[in-house]
Parts: sequence; C-alpha cells; structure tokens
Amino acid sequence: MSPSLPSSLFFFFLHLLLLPSCFSCCTHHWLYGANSSHPNTSIAILLDQGGNVTDGLKRYLARFGYRSDHDDGDAGHLVKLYQSTLGLPVTGRLDTPTLDLLATPRCGVPDLRTSARFAYFDGQPRWARAPGHFLLTYAIITTPPPSTAGAGTTTYQLPPPKAVRAAFRRAFARWARVIPVRFVETRNYNMADVRVGFFAGDHGDGEPFDGPLGVLGHAFSPPSGQLHLDAAERWAVGADRDDDPGAVDLESVATHEIGHVLGLAHSSVPDAVMYPSLKPRTRKVDLTADDVRGVQALYGSNPLFSLSSLSEPDTSHAAATIRSPGTLAAVLLSLVAITVLICSSYR
Ligand SMILES: [Zn+2]
Ligand SMILES: [Zn+2]
Repeated sequence: MSPSLPSSLFFFFLHLLLLPSCFSCCTHHWLYGANSSHPNTSIAILLDQGGNVTDGLKRYLARFGYRSDHDDGDAGHLVKLYQSTLGLPVTGRLDTPTLDLLATPRCGVPDLRTSARFAYFDGQPRWARAPGHFLLTYAIITTPPPSTAGAGTTTYQLPPPKAVRAAFRRAFARWARVIPVRFVETRNYNMADVRVGFFAGDHGDGEPFDGPLGVLGHAFSPPSGQLHLDAAERWAVGADRDDDPGAVDLESVATHEIGHVLGLAHSSVPDAVMYPSLKPRTRKVDLTADDVRGVQALYGSNPLFSLSSLSEPDTSHAAATIRSPGTLAAVLLSLVAITVLICSSYR
C-alpha cells in the first residue's frame, strides 16, 4: 500500500472532495456522489501525492489487479472492471455503491477478473495429500511483533492468546466441516503446514502492512501455508459487539484467509466469505454455497456434510481459474483503517 499522505495534506484534499464546487475541477466526469458517509481513508486512497484523483484511483485499482489491457488511460474502463468483478452495477462511475465498496476494508489479494463466482489461483494449486481425509497442522504466534520506533513508538495490542486460538479453531472448523480435511493445532511453528502470525510494516515477504485499516492481512496459496495479519489493526473477537468503529473481526478475517490458504481466490458473490471486502465491526464467518462449491471442487466433500444444510441460496454455477499477476499467489488480507480493507497478495 502506498504511503499515507501527511495528515494536513490529506485533510486539505478531503476538504476539496467534499466541496461540490471543487469536485468538478479536480475530478473527472466519471466521479460523482462522494458524501461525508464515506470514511476519510476511502477518499485518501484515490489521491496521489499531487491530489490527482484519477492517478490515485488507477494506482489503487492496479494494486488489486485492475489494469487496462490497452493502457489508454481510461479510468472509467477500470472502474467498470472493478464494478463487474465485484457484483456492482456497471456504470463506469464512482457512484455511491462503488465508493462504498472502495471505502470498505478488504483483503489484499488481487481481484482477478472472472465472470464466475468462486475462483482459484493460477494452476489451481491445492494441498496434494493422499486421497480421502487428510490432516493439515497449523500453528499461531499469538504475541504481537516488537513495537516499532519512529515518530512515536507504536505498540500492538492483540486479543488474549486463548481468544485468538479459539477464533482460529472455529474458523478452521468451518472449512473442515465441508471438505475431507482435518486441521490440528501444533506448537511447532516451523513444522506446521499453516503458519499464522501477526506482523507489522515490512515483514520480509514483499507485502508490507500499512498500519490501522488499509491492508488487514494476507495469505499465500498452497502449499505455502503462510497466513499473516496486520498487527496494527484493532482486532476483536466478536467485533460486531465492539464499540470501537475500527474494530476488525478476527474470526471473519481468519475464515477468509484460510480460504486462500486452501487455494480459493476472491469470489464475486458479495455474501461469500471469499468476497474481498469486510466492513469494520462486521462478523462474516458462515460459508456460503459459493464458498463450499469452490473448496469442494478442490478437495471433494466431507461425507458428513450436505450442501442442502446451508440456509442461503446457491448462487454458484461455475468456477474459473483466475489470472494472478505473479507466481506466488500470496493473499493479503488487511482491513484498511476505518475505511478500507485491502486484500493484497499474490505473486
Ligand atoms: Zn482475500
Ligand atoms: Zn506477510
């Protein structure tokens, strides 16, 4: 994620954006409808250092996989791609639904263009173990990384280790319920198949975290097993009951990122766990038929599970292989501060 603007510059541009008289002079015809309900950072991500909305928007969209095939500078075209990929009305404009989604925290994994619902990474990587039921071990570092020094020392506060472990236990169990895979926690971090940890800033994998809100975390496609969460978030267990407007639901993000660890990319179904966005103080942990069909296509069904047991309608009809921008398929899940959850990983 790009460096944040100095606060004075940020509020200056925010002020400009909220003034209708200035709107037309500093934006393009496809931009309209911004209102004060959109978190500030959602506007900030659309600005470059010179306050250019178009370039800022392009940079933001490019980070999540939206690049023009023709490089004709048509931001409206990119907006249409964004809208069609994520199930929004395709207007080519930054209308209210689009701004709302841009302002919503999301996963850092790129939104690869697909007309399908659920999707996979290039090559459909999966855990290749013996057919039938198999086991994956996981380990969690429940302590925050060392505080960072700088203009002000940053300290990270995480939920109690017991609560973190319980949240991940429930998240893994949701996936285990639908596929013939068991997940067992181990304390041997280096030997675990899936390695979960909280990290801050540049932590050595080329996908630095960006502080509160913004990118929430990321995970890598099989067989990497790396699942990283941004330690700077205000993580909460049961964020829907939390008074903090920036509280991010740990269990929801964990469930989403585990989907990436298993080989699922982002879904275009807004209700799906694998949809890239997640609003703060929102709990979204129940797998939808779309999520289930996607992961079962990789691993088969748990014989004890019936898709008919899901309450929501099945909106999934087809799967597609998405084009990832690199080879690694790292999945970043990060919740943008009160505003934008940026899912950013891949490679
Ligand atoms: Zn994601
Ligand atoms: Zn990482």
